[in-house]
Amino acid sequence: MSLISDRLNRISPSQTIAITDKARVLKAEGRDIISLSAGEPDFDTPENVKDAAIRAIREGQTKYTAVAGTQALRSAIAARLAADFGTDYTADEIVVSTGGKQSIFNAMVATLNPGDEVIIPTPAWVSYPDIVTLADGRPVLVPTDPAAGFKMTARQLADAITPQTKWLMLNSPCNPTGSAYTADELRSLCDVLLDHPHVWVFTDDIYAKLVYDGFVAQTVVQVEPKLRDRTVTMNGMSKAYAMTGWRVGYTAAPAALTRAMTKLQGQSTSNPCSIAQAAACEAASGPQDFIAEMVETYRGRRDLVVAAINAAPHLSCHVPQGAFYVFASMEKALGLTSAGGTKITSDEVFVTALLDETGVAAVHGTAFLCPGYFRISYATDTETLREACRRVTAFCEGLH
Ligand code: PLP
Repeated sequence: MSLISDRLNRISPSQTIAITDKARVLKAEGRDIISLSAGEPDFDTPENVKDAAIRAIREGQTKYTAVAGTQALRSAIAARLAADFGTDYTADEIVVSTGGKQSIFNAMVATLNPGDEVIIPTPAWVSYPDIVTLADGRPVLVPTDPAAGFKMTARQLADAITPQTKWLMLNSPCNPTGSAYTADELRSLCDVLLDHPHVWVFTDDIYAKLVYDGFVAQTVVQVEPKLRDRTVTMNGMSKAYAMTGWRVGYTAAPAALTRAMTKLQGQSTSNPCSIAQAAACEAASGPQDFIAEMVETYRGRRDLVVAAINAAPHLSCHVPQGAFYVFASMEKALGLTSAGGTKITSDEVFVTALLDETGVAAVHGTAFLCPGYFRISYATDTETLREACRRVTAFCEGLH
């Protein structure tokens, strides 16, 4: 009898983590590596947030809290959502978890039965299909059109819905494409959902604050309040507040589902770290001006990378509206050979050769269910990013 369960054998390890780890190992061996593979802000957590955590330790907030999070944090999150999106969630509808990843996991495990379908527009964040599979659900992948900005259309959604559909997973702005749905685009998806009352929507808004050029990120319940009874609005502290290591994410959802997710979390991790919760409370309710400064820096870097990619031979990309990723096509490089002698037969071979020959780590599109592309994270200081762009350009110039 095999020790490892069939359930675990059905999923694969996160490929972004695998590439980031490989880059880390090469760096430790003394190689000159620039890692553009991780989805992690290079900014430090704001001082007021760190101070709140230190205060919490000194004041003895070091014990278990309520499973769904402290009342103070859940109230602060409900107020944050109201301020950012005009929603009317109450503290009782919030579950705080150990990162947004656990929030997704909670929602899927709490609701999916074997055979239930989850519609996932692709390219998509690596973890969605695996979390759905772990929860015994069936991911239904719907490839979006690059010409439509990698956004699912109402027709595509309507065609993908079956009697078995339980969820639509939306992610706007999207990891890996940076594409974000306008209010009108969300409206047309909401109209389809209104026609299919058995379908719930899980909206992962974790990059909603990282948007550029005046784009306003909206969320599903804001666009269509009639969907509030079958929507999970997910968000977290990792990206907007540069708090990846603190592990705080949350859901806002109808009461019955909130109770179910709390029950599940109560039998797995219990409450998220009490100290991280105190820090998150300050992040949600303290000054927000740090974000605008961060966004302006990201925008400059985005422009730098987009210009470099579109000037490099064999590469191209669209201008992303949000997040901190550029998703570039390398399809024109297929069949060519690198200066180091590697024949580029796939996006994975491309990123491996790029890492081996130039020390730049990026993630291949197949990891996001979209072959022929690769993802660059520009959450890296601008000088390093400039050097990375120089190396990518030289690598592409060497393809023949
Ligand atoms: N959702 C998306 C689209 C992400 O890119 C990430 C992290 O990379 C998460 C959720 C989870 O974030 P965390 O678990 O750090 O809160």
